[in-house]
Amino acid sequence: MFLNPSARAITRAKRKTLEKFHFFNVYDSNDNVIGKRIAIKDILAESIIIPQLNSEEVVRMSIGIDGGGDDDKKSTKVVISFPDFESPNSKDNQHLVGIYFGPEDYISLKNILEPINIELSEIVSHGALTKVGWRQFELFIIGDLKLLKLVYGLQSNSATRFCLLCHATSDQSKHGVDVMPRTLETIRNGISQVKKRSTPSTRPSELARLKKNYGSVDAEPLLTCIPLSHATPPPMHIMMGIVNSVFTVLEKHNTQVAKELRKKAGIQDKYRKGFSGKECRDFLKYIEDNNYQGPCADLFLAIRRIQEYMKIGIEVDLKNMKSDIDVLLDLVRKSELELSIIPKLHYLEKHVVPFIESHKAWFSEQGLEHIHSQVNGAIRRIPPKGTSKYEKWSKYFMETQLMLNCL
Ligand SMILES: [Zn+2]
Repeated sequence: MFLNPSARAITRAKRKTLEKFHFFNVYDSNDNVIGKRIAIKDILAESIIIPQLNSEEVVRMSIGIDGGGDDDKKSTKVVISFPDFESPNSKDNQHLVGIYFGPEDYISLKNILEPINIELSEIVSHGALTKVGWRQFELFIIGDLKLLKLVYGLQSNSATRFCLLCHATSDQSKHGVDVMPRTLETIRNGISQVKKRSTPSTRPSELARLKKNYGSVDAEPLLTCIPLSHATPPPMHIMMGIVNSVFTVLEKHNTQVAKELRKKAGIQDKYRKGFSGKECRDFLKYIEDNNYQGPCADLFLAIRRIQEYMKIGIEVDLKNMKSDIDVLLDLVRKSELELSIIPKLHYLEKHVVPFIESHKAWFSEQGLEHIHSQVNGAIRRIPPKGTSKYEKWSKYFMETQLMLNCL
């Protein structure tokens, strides 16, 4: 027989669960509370079901960083997930570590990531307690490339050396030149050179020149416990960037064809930047299923072939993947349209295959999207009144998410 628990019993159970976790505030530069975070060791000990692996086996843990939302609802989330566990991208496998409402900038990220970095450094050096005993961890990072560049103290995509993972310039990426990889060490060296050659009274233009000359660096890296060899080129963002850049060119040269294609593929014509991840997948499927032969068909089909390698749990034939990537890059370079080697194409050409080769996997950032849509749903339930709304929103969201993970 099942008993219906009373509301009071549910509240008591909830309180008892939440008591096991240490919550901390996240502040902005004026000491206002703009978010919350939880101790990662509490999450590992209390809410994560780690498969009964051999205790010698290292658990791979991915730190995801994602921003989203508009205006005052703009939020940045830090999430941990486990790429080798079952259904790694399902929403149950996304464990929220922290959230803040506010700008996606270095200072705000520093406020949330500094304590997280200390905790992660300890976990990576000594391991942590889990429900199945003490385990060692290997850390990866994944997320929006724009945010990851801030996290590692680098300048934006428009910088001379635009890449998170190597020192390529746009001219070098245009010609597919192999360039020296970035490491935490090269970034730190760049910053120390800039510091050595500047003073508080150095003119901003001179400071910008120095930063550019020392590898387009901007500030000290914030997550020093995850080497750049463990920064994942994010599959979904890479595909979205490439599909959207080709579609934009098609729209420019063949407005009518682009309009019809969009309609036939069932993608709504909204006033926004471009196709979402799902829309890209639907669009490429439409192109293939309907044997589309119009302008840019060869490019879209080449992208579609690469998309096939992104499925979870498939054994990737790296030789085939590399040759399919080369086909796409070749088509872009030879195209008569004004296609350029955008940064996402560079990541695809130079960094995806080496990542899969060294880690025998390609992790997806798709799970992060679930968290994002849940934030929007959750904060709608909390009226945006008072100056402490960010504190209320983040507390409510963290607690709800934690309860979901603990069920
Ligand atoms: Zn690169």
